[in-house]
Amino acid sequence: MASKPLVAITGASSGIGEATARAFSAAGHPLLLLARRLDRLEALGLPDALCRKVDVRDREGIKAAVVEAEAAFGPADLMFCNAGIARLADIGRQDPLEWDEMIDVNAKGVMNAVHAVMAGMMERRRGTLVMMSSIAGRKVYPDHTVYCGTKFFVHAVSESLREYLSAYDVRVIVVSPGIIETEVLDAVTDATTLASYKANKARIGGGIPASHVADLILNAYDLPQNALVQEICLTPTRQTY
Ligand code: NDP
Repeated sequence: MASKPLVAITGASSGIGEATARAFSAAGHPLLLLARRLDRLEALGLPDALCRKVDVRDREGIKAAVVEAEAAFGPADLMFCNAGIARLADIGRQDPLEWDEMIDVNAKGVMNAVHAVMAGMMERRRGTLVMMSSIAGRKVYPDHTVYCGTKFFVHAVSESLREYLSAYDVRVIVVSPGIIETEVLDAVTDATTLASYKANKARIGGGIPASHVADLILNAYDLPQNALVQEICLTPTRQTY
């Protein structure tokens, strides 16, 4: 059995979650990998990795997977609340069902992942929560309205949790990337917004690899428990907006 602590990641089937799974696996951690596309989780072929098909909107499903992984690998020492969906759109014509989906996955889904591990971390007086926000959780864009709302939520909750959990020596790191090359744009159904996003992205020379985000998360995690990187804000150099 791996000697390093268990790391749990939501949304590990592609993009930043997948890159982070690979980075922590290479560093010798056992993993709990969650997403809806189980085939993609299993195709990663990582050792000591429990893969479970769980939608982050299913609070009990996340908790059950954590209990199962902890029985196999010991307590979860890191939860990366990463799963998210970016239905970027003109708010005036966007179907409110897309608002609901982003709020349920990006905001409530993050809280469901926190809930699955927080009590155990408090009891053990150690652990790390890594909360996936965005540069869109620091500033607004007119065609990211509800997406920004969900990411500002993650920022606010992370700051409050950081204060609350500091008394238990539990760390809270918020991750705020700019444009990263992933499958995130597949969720955009508004053709005009997608075209404008792609034009901006081309103008700055494209996004940067998800592995850069993963490496920073691993570096932050590897610091001693009494040292906290409060925020990782990483953008392409030419992304100044
Ligand atoms: P991807 O689309 O590649 O990855 C999204 C991941 O989230 C997938 O693994 C997907 O798995 C999972 N996911 C989505 N909905 C659910 C759900 N309901 N339940 C469980 N898992 C779900 O994009 P990214 O890697 O870019 O996105 C990861 C996070 O990074 C998101 O929170 C995103 O908002 C954030 N982000 C991304 C940026 C970028 O430029 N790429 C910039 C800033 C933040 P599956 O579909 O298999 O369930």
